[in-house]
Amino acid sequence: MTTNPAIELRGISKAFGPVQANSDINLRVERGTIHGIIGENGAGKSTLMSILYGFYKADAGEILIGGQPVAIPDSQAAIRAGIGMVFQHFKLVQNFTVLENVVLGAEDGALLRPSLAKARKLLADLARDYELEVDPDEVIEELSVGHQQRVEILKALYRQADILILDEPTGVLTPAEADHLFRILRGLKEQGKTVVLITHKLREIMEITDAVSVMRRGEMVATVTTAETSPEQLAELMVGRKVLLRVDKTPAVPGRTVLEVENLRVSDADGVERVKGISFSIRAGEILGIAGVAGNGQSQLLEVLGGISPATGTVRVNGDAIDLSGRHSNGQTRRARGIAHVPEDRQHLGLIMDFMAWENVIFGYHNDPAYQKNRLIMDNAGIVREAQAKMKRFDVRPPIPTLQAKSFSGGNQQKIVLARELERAPDLLLVGQPTRGVDIGAIEFIHQRLIELRDAGKAVLLVSVELDEILSLSDRIAVMFDGRIMGERDPAATNERELGLLMAGIAGEGAAA
Ligand code: ADP
Ligand code: MG
Repeated sequence: MTTNPAIELRGISKAFGPVQANSDINLRVERGTIHGIIGENGAGKSTLMSILYGFYKADAGEILIGGQPVAIPDSQAAIRAGIGMVFQHFKLVQNFTVLENVVLGAEDGALLRPSLAKARKLLADLARDYELEVDPDEVIEELSVGHQQRVEILKALYRQADILILDEPTGVLTPAEADHLFRILRGLKEQGKTVVLITHKLREIMEITDAVSVMRRGEMVATVTTAETSPEQLAELMVGRKVLLRVDKTPAVPGRTVLEVENLRVSDADGVERVKGISFSIRAGEILGIAGVAGNGQSQLLEVLGGISPATGTVRVNGDAIDLSGRHSNGQTRRARGIAHVPEDRQHLGLIMDFMAWENVIFGYHNDPAYQKNRLIMDNAGIVREAQAKMKRFDVRPPIPTLQAKSFSGGNQQKIVLARELERAPDLLLVGQPTRGVDIGAIEFIHQRLIELRDAGKAVLLVSVELDEILSLSDRIAVMFDGRIMGERDPAATNERELGLLMAGIAGEGAAA
């Protein structure tokens, strides 16, 4: 005997003007399971779930909940059908308490007072049953992102949701918070609830789901049982072609020393020392990866080397000391010295968001004689043509140089910065979080470009909080903790456990044993 699925979608379609966000989608989500929905940015995942939650109206199609056809014209109807949703951007009232937020909207104003006492009790029960501890009297704006997310889940459970939809819930969480969320979701499943988890992270799908549906360009391309699939197969379904999940590279052939850093110290605007006397070097043809939990001085190190902020100590590039005063002109001089910089914070440091893509593609290099028609006039038409070619090579979507930087998605903004910095063939490339917010197809592409630069004899300093990325790209790994380098390791002779201990500030023989 088969039971009715918790959710069944039949022939759902939805267009936004010319964009077909969902076309003829069929989906079955079995009761009491964790069902993943995976797809690249823009595949149509959020649209589909927003239709299910009554946020958008489908152009065509049918929704069945527990085998019964239902109309879901608004979120009240979704709640009545037992559906709860945790959005990508929380919808909590910032200056209300946890308790008030949970009750708000579930009861009308006159009932609020008696129901607060009842809610307090219910909240305590839910907190106990699902590891959802939060202080009911804390004001939302005082809570961490992870705790705010718990309040969203509590809110849905308080409304007796049987089906919980979470849209990219781990994007905003630390790894420890994400682990905790997964325990909560497993707990919900054990209680018989159905969970729909939207994500673009393969690791999460493999770790926690029972089944997974893959979307690509508005279509549902497959639904598979998690135990019977692999990250490689899912990646191929998502992107529509084979994707290398491992980086293909030969051993490095290091040449002369390009970057030498000695006793570098950096203090932030409040006078707190963030980099505490570090020394290292990088040779031509090698990638030095800096691993570490965010906030241990890696960002300051990159900014100093990129000429954005001041420091003391000595930094030599190709044997010549560079100016560490952090003066405004430093960024410009660095480029003339063959240093390219892909900053971590691309929105503030990497791009001028109101400028067009082609302007951003030459930003910092606009004094280059190649861009001048004569002494006074820039060759704009030529620059736009070159920018378009670069955007095509770096698969920037859409490859339209006259769009403003802010109208591209995060991953495509990153590709614009990479196109500018990598194609300059620098002697030294400084690169921070190169694939943050980027789809897997583009990650493969970016990793290959970095390896090519290395193989062309360039020195690369890679800062990333993704340990996988550090391990697969680096020829040597240095781990930063509290402004210091805790140790340097050969990627072939270390592992995530050892690096994790160094990242937590635990060094020495004890860590290796
Ligand atoms: P995903 O969640 O998989 O990243 P979305 O469902 O958000 O994808 O988007 C699918 C497509 O629909 C994208 O091309 C997106 O730009 C477009 N889209 C989504 N919401 C809207 C909207 N409110 N107005 C116009 N276009 C939209
Ligand atoms: Mg989305």
